[in-house]
Amino acid sequence: RQAAKPQSGPIEGVDRILAIGSGKGGVGKSTVSANLAVALAAEGRRVGLLDADVYGPSQPRMLGISGRPSSPDGQTILPLRNHGVTLMSIGLLTPEDKATIWRGPMLMGALQQMLRQVAWGRLDVLIVDLPPGTGDVQLTLSQKAEVTGAVVVSTPQDIALLDAKKALDMFEKTGTKVVGMIENMSTFVCPCCGEETQIFGHGGAKAEAERIGAPFLGEIPLDIDVRLSGDAGVPVVAAKPQSPQALRFREIARKL
Ligand code: ADP
Repeated sequence: RQAAKPQSGPIEGVDRILAIGSGKGGVGKSTVSANLAVALAAEGRRVGLLDADVYGPSQPRMLGISGRPSSPDGQTILPLRNHGVTLMSIGLLTPEDKATIWRGPMLMGALQQMLRQVAWGRLDVLIVDLPPGTGDVQLTLSQKAEVTGAVVVSTPQDIALLDAKKALDMFEKTGTKVVGMIENMSTFVCPCCGEETQIFGHGGAKAEAERIGAPFLGEIPLDIDVRLSGDAGVPVVAAKPQSPQALRFREIARKL
């Protein structure tokens, strides 16, 4: 008989767990998670990505992974892999256009399974793409896994920053170290004339990071290639490795 796996504490074979959170949805948390995962793999790290955004899993699409993970023994789930990243997502188990309508306990069960029943193998880092906000998933993760640190993604817009502050507060209350903040969609460079427009403002995330004494990890511009490559399942770090956006992600990944 196999000994029961522990339900909390470190995950066997996984050195570090980095959670990527945001207060608001739509600020690019999943895009940043996918690109950082691919960037870390490009830096030679063994990388896993757990898509914990159970109500809106976008990682299968962003990493260009489809198909169902198999489970030869009916217990251990074998994750799928692309762009050097090992992925597990609820999105691999449910049809893309069907809703996951779960109450807390179901959700926590699913998260536990994705953490502990997946054959992650040896990983230097497991990136966890959290759902937006400060709810059940975030709480379960902080209680059931030893999260090494959290990265908070925000746009520079006041309304996004306000919610990002709540996410920062949550990490503080759950005893999770904030390893840094990233400002996404920080400027838009016109592809025709090169003029910079600060559509959502600029500099707010850096100021907030300074206020709480957390490192500011960098800015990612609002850029058509970031969106197109994400939609196409080849994150910009892999699609256009020499582009300024890809190099930004690589630079941030080296700080993690
Ligand atoms: P979240 O995970 O915070 O909900 P997503 O990563 O799904 O956000 O991003 C929301 C939308 O914005 C997606 O269509 C994505 O392609 C796009 N997007 C995210 N970051 C950028 C960026 N820097 N430039 C252009 N589009 C972006």
